[in-house]
Amino acid sequence: MQAEPETTQFLTFKDCLARRLIIKAGGPDTEDSSIEELGDFISYLALELWPTLPESIRNASYTAIPSTDELSFETLTPPTFIDSLISYGLVGDSDDVIKFVEKVLDDYVKEACEPPPTNWSGTRKSECEICERAVPLTYHHLIPRSVHTKVLKKGWHREEMLGSVAWLCRHCHSTVHHVASNEELARNFYTVDLLLEREDIQKWRNYAAKQRRGKRRG
Ligand SMILES: [Zn+2]
Ligand SMILES: [Zn+2]
Repeated sequence: MQAEPETTQFLTFKDCLARRLIIKAGGPDTEDSSIEELGDFISYLALELWPTLPESIRNASYTAIPSTDELSFETLTPPTFIDSLISYGLVGDSDDVIKFVEKVLDDYVKEACEPPPTNWSGTRKSECEICERAVPLTYHHLIPRSVHTKVLKKGWHREEMLGSVAWLCRHCHSTVHHVASNEELARNFYTVDLLLEREDIQKWRNYAAKQRRGKRRG
C-alpha cells in the first residue's frame, strides 16, 4: 500500500471519510476480524481522492479557510473511487458517490478549520473517552445545552446532571452528533457507556482506535 501523507489534514480527511462510510452508509460488514480490512479500504479510498483535491483544500486550517464553492465534485472524483464504492454496495450509483464526496469534504473543511482546542486545566482527561487516543480533546455536553430547558420541563434529568461532560477527540465528538439529535442524546445517550452501547459508535470506535494521531499543527 502507498504511504499516507503524515499531515493532520490528511488524517482529518480520512476520519471524515471513515465516519460517513461507517455511520451513514452502514459501512461494509465490520466484524472484529474485518476491522483491519475496513481500515485498508478506507486508506485506499482516502489516497484515491486526496491527490485530486486542490492544494487550498489539502492545506485547509483555521488560518487558511478554503472555499469549496468552485469545486466540481464530478470532475475531481476519480472513476476508480466511484467504482469501489458502488462495487462494495455502499451506494447506488455515481450520483450518490458525488453526494457522498461532497458531504465528506464539507465535514473535512469544517473540522480542519476549527481553531485548535484551548488548553484546559483541571479535571480533563488525556485520552478520548471513546477511541482512547491521546489527542487534543474537546468537551461534549452529554445533555446538550440546547435542550436543557426541555429536559427540566419534562423531568428527564435532575438539574445537577446538566453539567455532565465527556472528553472526546474532535472526530469522536462529531461522530456522536452525527448519530443522534440533541434531544435523543439527552434522553437516551447521556453517558459515555450508553453511547458505547450503540452499534454504530462501537464500529466507529473499533475503527478510530486503530488510527494514528495526527501531528499537531504549529
Ligand atoms: Zn476519539
Ligand atoms: Zn457535543
